[in-house]
Amino acid sequence: MYDFVIIGGGILGLATAYRLLQERPGSSLVLIDKEQRLAHHQTGHNSGVIHAGVYYTPGSVKAKLCKQGAERTVLLCEEHGIKYERCGKLIVATDAGEVSRLRGLEERVIANGLDYENISSQQLREIEPNVAGEAAMLVHATGIVNYTDICNAMAGVIREAGGEIHLGTALTGIRESDTEIVMESDKGEFIARTLIVCAGLQGDRIAMMAGIDIDFRVLPFRGEYYKIAAARGELVKHLIYPVPDPSLPFLGVHLTRMIDGSLTVGPNAMLSLGRETYSSNFPVPGDMADMMSFPGFYKLMARFASAGLYEMRGSLSKRVYLERCRKYCPSLKLEDLEPMEAGIRAQSVSSDGELVDDFLFLETSRSLHCCNAPSPAATSALPIADEIVSRALRKAN
Ligand SMILES: Cc1cc2nc3c(=O)[nH]c(=O)nc-3n(C[C@H](O)[C@H](O)[C@H](O)COP(=O)(O)OP(=O)(O)OC[C@H]3O[C@@H](n4cnc5c(N)ncnc54)[C@H](O)[C@@H]3O)c2cc1C
Repeated sequence: MYDFVIIGGGILGLATAYRLLQERPGSSLVLIDKEQRLAHHQTGHNSGVIHAGVYYTPGSVKAKLCKQGAERTVLLCEEHGIKYERCGKLIVATDAGEVSRLRGLEERVIANGLDYENISSQQLREIEPNVAGEAAMLVHATGIVNYTDICNAMAGVIREAGGEIHLGTALTGIRESDTEIVMESDKGEFIARTLIVCAGLQGDRIAMMAGIDIDFRVLPFRGEYYKIAAARGELVKHLIYPVPDPSLPFLGVHLTRMIDGSLTVGPNAMLSLGRETYSSNFPVPGDMADMMSFPGFYKLMARFASAGLYEMRGSLSKRVYLERCRKYCPSLKLEDLEPMEAGIRAQSVSSDGELVDDFLFLETSRSLHCCNAPSPAATSALPIADEIVSRALRKAN
């Protein structure tokens, strides 16, 4: 019998295993993932941004964990020789309305204790000649990394500490008794004292598998990107973000320098017709049926009808997508945008049709499920893992 079984080889499952073995060295632990490689889903399909914590309500758990997470991510990179860069992020306001929203954001940045500079239109032209705006804010602490590299480094430490990692192993059933919890998989059974689940896009299904009565579902939101042609790779030095539109739930498409030297623009936020369909938005019958039988889906669609149409227009037309980027980067051309695989966000939605904003933990006597870990959860992975570990150890004691 294992002390702990962890489901999920994304950054949260791995960070949890990594921290558990630091807190309780010698514990017997196995991490399983259905895919053949680590970080196959959200973690390996994200923007690779180490967020500084600009947007989150001052004093909130999200704000606190993001700031701590960004610092600890950088320390982890230094400890394991993982390439990262603190390139800074420019939030660019392109009209008077956005300038006033940028001022609102500045209050948040101050309250969240971040180092920043206000940038005039003239200064913006000097530091980023290809970017245009009425005003901007430069947030110094924002950085970039490849989160798959972080996962691989943590996996190395887990194995060295005696933890097992079984890839290509899908959890198919859970049986719990007073004395143990049994995980059925396509590769046989795993028996443990405590189960921890960090299954991202499948989190609601696994919670139901454990017999938990849930009142939310994970809805998948595609984040569609374009790769910027290599010839334009020197277009920007910083990450370039629009001022977020308060009527839209996500941050807006941004120009992101990746740590491998490439440049991307995205992601948008389109409802996905499958949970794991990265190359095209082709409907998956089982995923569609789950979505359509959930009342919260219709309430969400009604609430965000105009935002949904806005996203759909940008998804269907490359020209519309381009126009949104040209607002702050006017020299971009259609031929600069090259195809790139999308990412898919696991976003929990309540039966009232509300987007769940915070982390969502559910429990049985022997299992703990992390059911909502939206962005910036890759940045905040280590402090989120601390929270999971302290809950799991309380359960195990
Ligand atoms: C487009 C996009 C851009 C983003 N950009 C950023 C960013 O720049 N910065 C940032 O901080 N955050 C970002 N995020 C958010 C961040 O990537 C996620 O919050 C984070 O990766 C979640 O990690 P996870 O481990 O919970 O999930 P995942 O990485 O999805 O891992 C879950 C794992 O569970 C496994 N699994 C599921 N079901 C089973 C089963 N039955 N049996 C076995 N294994 C199973 C899956 O195979 C998967 O590997 C972004 C997300 C997306 C999608």
